[in-house]
Amino acid sequence: CGKLYVVATPIGNLGDISYRAVETLKRVDLIAAEDTRHIKALLQHYGINRKVVSLHQHNEERAAADLLEKLRAGLSIALVSDAGTPLVSDPGMPLVQATRDAGIEVSPLPGACALIAALSAAGLPTSRFSFEGFAPRTSSERKSFFKAKADSPDTWIFYESCHRVLASLQDMKEVLPPERRLVIARELTKLHETIVKTTLSEAAALVESDRNMQKGEFVILVEGAPKSDQPVELTSEQERVLGSLLKECP
Ligand code: SAM
Repeated sequence: CGKLYVVATPIGNLGDISYRAVETLKRVDLIAAEDTRHIKALLQHYGINRKVVSLHQHNEERAAADLLEKLRAGLSIALVSDAGTPLVSDPGMPLVQATRDAGIEVSPLPGACALIAALSAAGLPTSRFSFEGFAPRTSSERKSFFKAKADSPDTWIFYESCHRVLASLQDMKEVLPPERRLVIARELTKLHETIVKTTLSEAAALVESDRNMQKGEFVILVEGAPKSDQPVELTSEQERVLGSLLKECP
């Protein structure tokens, strides 16, 4: 059997790829990529000349079946996405799942990932966090999505498009406390990298007043709810004592 390599590529700065990733991309039989034209330009930069096949959101079930046959026949395949780590808000899940289910080895080549890069530089708590993918596209869905995260004690992170970042921050301001801290991480690793720590009361105005803050790629990180906002969980002993005290109340 062959082997499937899941290879992270840069999220902007072309220097952010590992030696091992370049070596692996140079020697695999086949590279499965989201956008073949985009990836060929990237490969050219590293002097890599391998056969590239397409695996994207709209063909991935069929492409996974084809690639599985090739893995069974002994080929080695690298899976890449347009940027960052495959399967993180990117295609590849059916292929990885099918390969693993078939008992064929799947090996990760770690590297850039926008959410981890943003988290590492945001200055928000990192011991527990949740990644929420892309925020929904409509305002009402976004408000429900933000409300559902309101009591989470952990830092939460989502991806947002430049077309919706302002609307998203405005919606968030309507449903979450104004003092909640958040970090807007934009164009990470690129020329116009910007990482701003602010509060919800100020975030939308900050983005609205600067057109540059409405361009590029965004990760938004929101601090978890403070402990005082968390529902209190009583131990059974505390419940028993509280129960008997309440019985004594007039
Ligand atoms: N697989 C990628 C990863 O590992 O981060 C994410 C792919 S997802 C389709 C693309 C989204 O990731 C963008 O819309 C943006 O929200 C975020 N993103 C990607 N590159 C970024 C960057 N350089 N700076 C900020 N956000 C970025």
